[in-house]
Amino acid sequence: MTTILDGKKLSAKILNKLSEEIRKLDKKPSLAVILVGDNPASELYVNLKKKAAEKIGITSTVLTYPQNIDEKTVLDKISELNNDKNVDAILVQLPLPQQINSTNIIQAISPKKDVDGFTPENIGKMSIGVEPYAYPCTPKGILTLLEEYKINLQGKHVVIIGRSNIVGKPLAQMLLNKDATVTICHSATTNLSDITKTADILISAVGKPKIIKKDMIKNNSVIVDVGTSKVDGKIFGDVDFENLSELTSYITPVPGGVGPMTIASLLVNTYELSKRMRKN
Ligand code: NAP
Repeated sequence: MTTILDGKKLSAKILNKLSEEIRKLDKKPSLAVILVGDNPASELYVNLKKKAAEKIGITSTVLTYPQNIDEKTVLDKISELNNDKNVDAILVQLPLPQQINSTNIIQAISPKKDVDGFTPENIGKMSIGVEPYAYPCTPKGILTLLEEYKINLQGKHVVIIGRSNIVGKPLAQMLLNKDATVTICHSATTNLSDITKTADILISAVGKPKIIKKDMIKNNSVIVDVGTSKVDGKIFGDVDFENLSELTSYITPVPGGVGPMTIASLLVNTYELSKRMRKN
């Protein structure tokens, strides 16, 4: 029988606990979010993050810029936020418009305020097994969810589909640090299903609805679906949930799996960065 990895429930539990901690503080943690352009999905994500932050007592400020803004204006704002004692955490919502180089922007964020854990310093630390200021939110959320359900990673073959800097690559590193054997697949991978069928744990982060079919998985494996695609106003994951969930031991739903865990991790990171900032 399959067990649903309930990210909505776990995220509510984490955020309840966090809100109690925040209530005890004199000065609330503060998150600054930079949103550039008019991408509806980005606007939606930023609103969700802001609402969730405010619900638990984190101050959140959204700085919005038009689609045609130049890179220097954003870099200047990041520099200002880096030096602002009232800002504990900085998030730049991706993707950015073409005229802005995302790498330049991410590199400009102070690693101590890098709530997404994307700066070279934080990614580098993670890669050599040193604690970064923050771990990337989606991978951290996935690991927290697996841990909650006591899913052992040591020696397990984890196949990740997707090699983005925000999900696939940092997730692979974090799983390696937990002694998993990790394979990363991508759009140029040949015989994808031959590889996915060997996965004890399959994590899909592609963004194409229902591309993971029941003949691509091993019986009783664990399936984590990161993908979120909107089709005719409805949200779909990468996984053909209805037709394969009964073959799995554990599976995340979409929505209600990885999404809420990403938001919970973001707010935990904000809180932890603020605590560290105030110690110094
Ligand atoms: P991305 O940068 O577009 O990466 C997608 C990855 O999938 C790429 O590595 C791509 O390969 C690979 N890919 C595309 N088609 C493939 C195929 N047919 N077979 C195998 N691999 C294929 O996306 P992302 O930012 O990592 O996000 C992935 C998905 O997760 C999206 O749906 C996004 O909305 C969702 N997401 C959800 C959350 C959440 O909290 N739930 C958080 C982040 C992202 P190449 O590298 O070769 O192009």
